[in-house]
Amino acid sequence: MSNQFIYSVIVSLNKSVPQSTFDYACHKIQKLEAGQIVKVPFGKKSAWGVIEKLQEDRKDIQIKQIIKVFDGYILSGYLMRFINWVAEWNFTSKGSVLKLVFSNIDIIEKENKPIGWIINTNPDIPKLKKLFPNFKLTKKRKQIINTLSQTKPILTKELIDQTGASKRTISELEKLNIINSMEVSSDISLPEFKVLRNSNIVLNSSQRNAVEKINRIKNNNKFDAVLLDGLTGSGKTEVYFEIIAETLKQGKQALVLLPEIYLSSEWSMRFKNSFGITPLVWHSNLSKKVRRETWDQIIRGKVNVIVGARSALFLPYRTLGLIVIDEEHDHSFKQEEGVLYNARDMGIIRAKIENIPVILSTATPSLETWQNIQTKKFTHIELPERIGDAELPRVKLIDMKGVNLPYNKWISPTLKDEISKNLVNRNLTLLFLNRRGYAPLKLCSSCGYRLGCKNCQSWLVEHKKNNLLICHQCGIQQKLPEICDECSEKETFISCGPGVERLEEEILDYFPDISIEILSSDTIQSSKIMNGFLKRIRNGKIDLIIGTQIISKGHNFKNLTLVGVIDADMSLSGGDLRASEKAFQVLHQVSGRAGRENKKGLVVIQTYDPKNQVIEALSKNNRDEFLKIESKHRKEINLPPFGKLAAIIISSKNQRELEAFSINLKKKSPNFQNVMILGPAPAPMYYLRGKYRYRFLIKSSKEVNIQKVIKDWVYKIKIPYTIKLKVDIDPYSFL
Ligand code: ADP
Ligand code: ZN
Repeated sequence: MSNQFIYSVIVSLNKSVPQSTFDYACHKIQKLEAGQIVKVPFGKKSAWGVIEKLQEDRKDIQIKQIIKVFDGYILSGYLMRFINWVAEWNFTSKGSVLKLVFSNIDIIEKENKPIGWIINTNPDIPKLKKLFPNFKLTKKRKQIINTLSQTKPILTKELIDQTGASKRTISELEKLNIINSMEVSSDISLPEFKVLRNSNIVLNSSQRNAVEKINRIKNNNKFDAVLLDGLTGSGKTEVYFEIIAETLKQGKQALVLLPEIYLSSEWSMRFKNSFGITPLVWHSNLSKKVRRETWDQIIRGKVNVIVGARSALFLPYRTLGLIVIDEEHDHSFKQEEGVLYNARDMGIIRAKIENIPVILSTATPSLETWQNIQTKKFTHIELPERIGDAELPRVKLIDMKGVNLPYNKWISPTLKDEISKNLVNRNLTLLFLNRRGYAPLKLCSSCGYRLGCKNCQSWLVEHKKNNLLICHQCGIQQKLPEICDECSEKETFISCGPGVERLEEEILDYFPDISIEILSSDTIQSSKIMNGFLKRIRNGKIDLIIGTQIISKGHNFKNLTLVGVIDADMSLSGGDLRASEKAFQVLHQVSGRAGRENKKGLVVIQTYDPKNQVIEALSKNNRDEFLKIESKHRKEINLPPFGKLAAIIISSKNQRELEAFSINLKKKSPNFQNVMILGPAPAPMYYLRGKYRYRFLIKSSKEVNIQKVIKDWVYKIKIPYTIKLKVDIDPYSFL
């Protein structure tokens, strides 16, 4: 019998290598459990990992020793299962999922035990006053003393959170020997949590109904998925706030996933107003310190709401009681870099594993969710009307075929008139054009040469505000050349087509004195900037907004009564499976911005194709009709959600090797029933960031285990190190 145990350890690794689980040994004095965090030697360095399971003892092999065991935290069995599931489903290693869980923080490097506070003796205040005549028992000091006499010990941060006192006040009391600090194990219990719901909103009857139904589901203490379905402004957020309150009261954590991080600060403010506490916010721009502290509170089970974008899904919740996926239809939930996954789908899986309900909230359900309603897998709860008197906006379609626009102008006379009226009435106007920058293309007026990106197969977009040409695929920037490479003529480049900046120019031509703001990912690069913008809106400092799709997500603009959609057809021509669906969602959401807050709204849609199903459904405000038509269409050709899809993308700097490999891969492709393997085909973005790319598309019926098909095929072939192979399960991007 050897004196050591052998464990398989999932090592947190950067790359999505197929293998990330390795065996390590540890002396028998210390028996380790699954989920325990350990440091192990890896290559020439060391890495953090987590114990997966005890292995059979093997004497014969030389096994490396675990360097360090972290005895503070342990990942829950639920989380371990989730890691496994995500890795299997998305074709990545467990180590790269664990990396998401550890989220780039040195979990334990600084192994200082946290400092907790206790009260020295039960202080005799009159006596204290005698001893220290200058001592005043201020409100904050009193609060600290009261708090500490109830529960003890309490960590500094908790104490500050609970009393609102500063660090200085705490140390003053320490100097007076009224309170003392002590090292505590990180496992001390957190103070009891009180929900302060100070909302003055009285729910209407459909909201009350929804709350009741969801609470009933929640009380079953098991997994259930609920679609909270209602127009923008129908009060969905207020409904799920009630469910969150219920969750917090039960001493559990609630996770709210938003499609974009910049939405989180507005959300947090609203939550704070309604609950009196600040939620824990999670996203990639947090400082390392805040990240660590937040992670720490989450794994210790701090009762609160955690709000964040995709990555918040992987945090080590100790007592998760509810997941909310707001704007569930939003395509931003699909992570397209690094580990590819769909945060909405994985959120549902996490809820399933944790045995808790998940609420999907939206005005325009995804087809996947819609299908789950049809088959009764999800519970459908509707909020049929908008709050107060807010009515749906009127929709006016403009057939652009009959409009004679001046050269390089994009706003029809009808829309121009409406803008003018709206300005006179001092209401807010929003123009929607899903194109960043000034013009999507620059070409030489002498020879027709178009300026493209060196790294990608895409045109350079003109950005006039910072006087640059930018590739929207790889982000490379350059100045406008003076001379055309092709014909050597000087200063011949002209701008083609409109972007938001160009539209601003046109508007300023017509209405030179108004205040306009552009909203796109170029102008809104942080929550802070977004907040500034929202403040200007609230204070009535803006007359007209020009926005890309960034505008379609979750904001309440008082006073917004006119929305103009400049080019409704553009979104429809995306050419991929979800183009129509996405176009409908974005246009519907944008239209939903008009006429909240008791003012009737108008939506003007400019299109060259007014007979198009999406446009028609939109103009009639008939969402279900659209979902029905689109479902039928997908079903006929067996596409998701009726069949399965997966993509394999191979890329390399070496064109010839890539081609050879693609042929080899094709040759070895398996033959299964109900599985169709298409490709290899050069990707639409054949050349991207300096690499050539080929794609395979695997189509199967719903019952097929598509992951297994790919595994049996791809893992049996040796992939040359010059070639990168990525599997994208249920792809959203086909570029
Ligand atoms: P949604 O999430 O469906 O877009 P919200 O919950 O944001 O809708 O509600 C829209 C607006 O109406 C918000 O300003 C919200 O505070 C307000 N609101 C929601 N429910 C009520 C209610 N029952 N009474 C009054 N105002 C409400
Ligand atoms: Zn590029």
